[in-house]
Amino acid sequence: MVTQFEDEEGDEIIRNYFQSKMQKPRKRSNGKFWVSDLGTCKRYMFYNTVIGRSEPSLESMKNFEWGNRVEDVWEQALIEKYNKRLVKNDLEAKIFEDGFQIWGYTDPVLLKPDGTIDTIWEVKGATNLWARRASPADSHRAQLHGYMKALDQSEGKIIYIHPTHFTTKTYEVEFDDEFWAHLLQRLGEAKDLISDKVLPKPEKDYSPKCKWCDYQDICEAEWFD
Ligand code: SF4
Repeated sequence: MVTQFEDEEGDEIIRNYFQSKMQKPRKRSNGKFWVSDLGTCKRYMFYNTVIGRSEPSLESMKNFEWGNRVEDVWEQALIEKYNKRLVKNDLEAKIFEDGFQIWGYTDPVLLKPDGTIDTIWEVKGATNLWARRASPADSHRAQLHGYMKALDQSEGKIIYIHPTHFTTKTYEVEFDDEFWAHLLQRLGEAKDLISDKVLPKPEKDYSPKCKWCDYQDICEAEWFD
């Protein structure tokens, strides 16, 4: 027997599932940032601090789920190649520097047999690996720099994984002091603008999140026209 099940009901079940996995909206105090903020536009940091995240959009939920899926695949693939004991996910990363508190949790990290870090992996889903042929996105380098800084590593790797073909593109990234100083300067600018309640300009170079940003409806960046 075939029973009728409305498409809308299926959509709703998936939507509820995505939503259950998202962090609850919350404001935070100025000067506290996530490692992921290092790679976002200052306007996004402003909205996140001043008004707190609104209800996540379906696009951001899908993106979040994609990200989790490819990360899980990479973690399991590393465990298969090495050993469960040598692969740790979600290592806590905390940075207290220049009056900032920056914290986050890594993607899978490969350990050496003595328990020290071999490789910090930053895992990203990407449907267009060809477009990333020359270099990884600055926003992704920024995030990896946060983890390298917190865990005292001079290099790490970014791997892009196609979410359906599972082909990959990997970049080795060396810690770059100048780039790190630039990232802290950006956080400082964001912090000052947040204190003064001045909305930062939208920044296209730091806005790979635009497509799934939860603040699109209020941002009005000119490239949405
Ligand atoms: S929509 Fe884009 S430019 Fe606007 S806040 Fe979000 S990420 Fe920044």
